[in-house]
Amino acid sequence: MNTPSIISHVKSIDGDLWEVTGSNNATHIVAHDWDGWMCTCEDHYFRHRFCKHMRTCAEEGNITDQMLFRGGTNE
Ligand SMILES: [Zn+2]
Repeated sequence: MNTPSIISHVKSIDGDLWEVTGSNNATHIVAHDWDGWMCTCEDHYFRHRFCKHMRTCAEEGNITDQMLFRGGTNE
């Protein structure tokens, strides 16, 4: 089952730290540093994906180095 990847709100907390609220009002913390991307959502935590929250923050922060993501598969 595919859930719509709609992000309702992105708040920049710090330079490389964001608070992302999804369409279901779940809030996740996304970080981007020298070690790559981190997100508190299940998609990343359990499935190790480059998730929609990271993608949104990359666009928000004009970060183009998606390849720095080392948490797992990037599909
Ligand atoms: Zn996520």
